[in-house]
Amino acid sequence: MTALSYLDISKSALKHNLEVFREIVGTHVKLGIAIKGNAYGHGLVEVARALSEIGVDYFYLNAAFEAEQLRQAGIKTPLLMIGYTPLSDLKSIVELDGEVVVYNLESLKALAELKKKVKIHLKIETGNHRQGILLEDLPDFIEFIKRYESLKLQGVSTHFADIEDDRKHHYAHEQLEIFDKAIGLLEEEGLAPHLKHCANTAATLLMPETYFDLVRVGIGIYGLWPSPSVKNVFLESHPDIKLKPVLSWKTLVAQMKPVKKGDLIGYGCTYQMPHDGQIAVLPVGYYDGYSRALSNKGEVLIRGKRAPVIGRVCMNMIMVDVTGIPDLKLEEEVVLIGRQGDEAITAEEMAAWQDTINYEVVTRIGAHVERRVVK
Ligand SMILES: *Cc1c(COP(=O)(O)O)cnc(C)c1O
Repeated sequence: MTALSYLDISKSALKHNLEVFREIVGTHVKLGIAIKGNAYGHGLVEVARALSEIGVDYFYLNAAFEAEQLRQAGIKTPLLMIGYTPLSDLKSIVELDGEVVVYNLESLKALAELKKKVKIHLKIETGNHRQGILLEDLPDFIEFIKRYESLKLQGVSTHFADIEDDRKHHYAHEQLEIFDKAIGLLEEEGLAPHLKHCANTAATLLMPETYFDLVRVGIGIYGLWPSPSVKNVFLESHPDIKLKPVLSWKTLVAQMKPVKKGDLIGYGCTYQMPHDGQIAVLPVGYYDGYSRALSNKGEVLIRGKRAPVIGRVCMNMIMVDVTGIPDLKLEEEVVLIGRQGDEAITAEEMAAWQDTINYEVVTRIGAHVERRVVK
């Protein structure tokens, strides 16, 4: 069946970005990739297959069903669950040979009760105030782990709150100090973890002191920057390095129609044609992840030219003004994100139109939208 909209996932861009990050971290640091959120919207299994063929040391996941899908697809790369894994899912994760980030005693107890060897990573609260064990509670975890042979402390981790927006990284350094204290406590107790890890993409790009044994790169592997500030600071010292966006999102012309000056377009009649002209209807909408916030704000590419979204984004359709792009054919290609001719629309640009970040733009692309892995 013909997809109403689809993603081209560029394998060569993925490979290029992976090589860039390998080069940045060097050979003695392991490289793990976050593929939660349907691989940031790029397609979980498609991306995991492509990356595991090239070779990565870890995949980071958020939910148990993701681990199941990867193992069913025959992917053998070590998996680490970095979100909250419900107690009732822990058994499945262990059976799938997955590793688990732990930050509460309930999860630790549930894992011990499985009586199976399990690799755990303790998550330390260092200032993000999301997940994590408070330093003062760490001795309880240490005592518990020591009591159970089956619990193997594979790693210790934390997560930064503010590298994307703060050029000086004061807060990240405060977090690192607390992380170091936690590592010290573990080592004193003879529980030196094999893998210490805390660096996301922003830290990997800007703060080599955060690498330890393993990094956790997400957004960068998809060829997107964590923030404009991280991009600018990084490129000041590495002007030759490029990240290549991996994803293009395309749709097709579903209908063309002449309109007259004064005609009202779409639900709520929020747009009035300022001139006689032509509009095209495109079969993509907020169901697919084309945000309703793009109503009267977005742009698409047709024949290498920009055409503005006019009227409200509907569930399954949008309208664009194609006056000045004559003789369009039915089902002609339209680019929502990506390049066409000399023009390009980036995830960052689309994010700016709807007042959000590139992360949200790509992860929100519906899981039902077909992903095609291309060269
Ligand atoms: C998502 C996530 C990452 C990756 O972050 P990016 O900014 O996409 O590189 C790393 N660590 C944790 C704990 C995460 O949740």
